[in-house]
Amino acid sequence: MYVLSVELVAVLATAATTAWPVPAGSWTTFAVLVACAALHLHSSRWIERVRRDHSHLPHVDLCSIWLVAGALVLPPTLAVALVVLVYAHRWWVVGRWDASRPPHRCVFTTSMMVLATLAAGAVAGATGLRDHLQHGRPTGALDLAGLVGAGAAHWLVNTALVAAVILLTVRPRSVKDAVGSGADNLLEAGQLAMGGFVALAVALWPGFALPMVVAAVALHRTVLIHQLELAARTDAKTGLLNAEAWHLQAKLELQRTRQQPPGARVGLFMIDVDHFKDINDTHGHQTGDLVLRRIAVALECAVRRGDAVGRFGGEEFAVLLPGVEPDEAVAIAERMRSEVHRVLVDDGEGGVVAGLTVSIGIAVWPEVAEDTVEGLLAAADSALYEAKRLGRDQVQTAGGRRRSPWTPAARSERPGV
Ligand code: GH3
Ligand code: MG
Ligand code: MG
Repeated sequence: MYVLSVELVAVLATAATTAWPVPAGSWTTFAVLVACAALHLHSSRWIERVRRDHSHLPHVDLCSIWLVAGALVLPPTLAVALVVLVYAHRWWVVGRWDASRPPHRCVFTTSMMVLATLAAGAVAGATGLRDHLQHGRPTGALDLAGLVGAGAAHWLVNTALVAAVILLTVRPRSVKDAVGSGADNLLEAGQLAMGGFVALAVALWPGFALPMVVAAVALHRTVLIHQLELAARTDAKTGLLNAEAWHLQAKLELQRTRQQPPGARVGLFMIDVDHFKDINDTHGHQTGDLVLRRIAVALECAVRRGDAVGRFGGEEFAVLLPGVEPDEAVAIAERMRSEVHRVLVDDGEGGVVAGLTVSIGIAVWPEVAEDTVEGLLAAADSALYEAKRLGRDQVQTAGGRRRSPWTPAARSERPGV
């Protein structure tokens, strides 16, 4: 319903734009912007195909450079036509190769961009900016305000429409997943600013838009490299740090802590899900994967800002806790246990996975006098083994025994029943 409503509003708004006259001079600008966008998309099609495979939500596609320029300088009918042509071309060179994104998703994206473009265009029209650009004489502070306002309107409409569809479909883990990270939004703002400069350039002479194609492709490449770096550090199944990235971070943190005055500490947890094989056996591997994702969320909810949760492999997780006191470490581990215990996963066939438990081994440096991450991990692993041996669903600290006060009933049950 939401998707169809957005598409209907986009169609109605497009129909309304036909009331605006199209000045004869706009066609040249339109043709140049179409050519620039086509050149940009064609040159970056491989980049975009790779990016889509490693994309997190939401995806910033860099087409807005041209669409915002169109919103600012073109009459609304041509601005909408530019959006439709750019996204049709985009589907041809990128979308049709991607089976996970059927054509209707491209129609929805196009509708969102039509509305964002019309919102930006409305601000440009209301402040007189479009008129000034069409006559090649933007004048000063008011036009600057129009430029910023149009960019803000584009960002606001686009972000709100994307956030709503993400909230309705994939149940994001955080606000960041719905509205994008700071870096995503900086990239979005960057392309809007570039769009503003393309508009100023074409106001002088349409051909001045061409050099911006080079800047757009260069930016696109840089974004891909950053995205691949991120993917190389991330465990695809859970979204946590992968084992290598976690290990590197732990090594750096231990080095940093050892250089600090006496009293500085760093903690490591090894966490293993209890009887996880039973979940796979009872509910299937796909549900098992979903359970792993939900456990990852639960663990992240329990840690402090600055702690690093990684997937060590299989159903094992590792946590790095800079500057943690031993008592605080135990409190955080207990919080993890109770967060995990609250996880409920529907297996889609009438069954529910509930009553999940984890065993946790803790090692805090320098209480555990190991000078390497491997040594600390081995100590945390021995504590974890001890927790398993003593009946699971509990926290044990290396170098000191501690039985969890919370367990008897849950320990005897197996999850997934
Ligand atoms: P324990 O309490 O002793 O830890 O028992 P357990 O069943 O959790 O441990 P065990 O080592 O016997 O089994 C771990 C299981 O985790 C076996 C494997 O099928 C499952 N597993 C490992 N990685 C994944 C994964 O990525 N997805 C799914 N669904 N299962 C996984
Ligand atoms: Mg295991
Ligand atoms: Mg296990």
